[in-house]
Amino acid sequence: MAGERQPDCLFCKIVSGEVPATVVRETETTVAFRDINPQAPTHVLVIPKVHYPDAATLAAAEPGVAADVLREAGAVADDEKLDSSGYRIVLNTGSGAGQTVFHAHAHVLGGRGLTWPPG
Ligand code: C5P
Repeated sequence: MAGERQPDCLFCKIVSGEVPATVVRETETTVAFRDINPQAPTHVLVIPKVHYPDAATLAAAEPGVAADVLREAGAVADDEKLDSSGYRIVLNTGSGAGQTVFHAHAHVLGGRGLTWPPG
């Protein structure tokens, strides 16, 4: 059923603790952890505990949890003191856009200059 834990999903395994991660924040509905392959001095992923393949699908099914993910992304930026320099929240959607893990997640990137447009 939509939203249920998927046994083969890497991020579901991070939620359950089966796969280790450096967790920086956790709420009832979300987990935030450091990306294993950081692309900036701060690179944290915020994921919902429920499983949906991407952020838009999550927002359509459970808008409150999607809002929790965005709120937590902002909280990560506060914790990492990124507000004055700016930061980026990235929602890669689909393999053509670079999505490799099909469990909704928001990248929070900051601590260096970020160019536009992204590659
Ligand atoms: O948007 P995309 O699907 O490519 O993002 C997945 C991210 O998950 C990658 O940045 C990758 O480095 C990260 N990752 C991780 N820990 C893992 C496996 C992947 O932080 N164990």
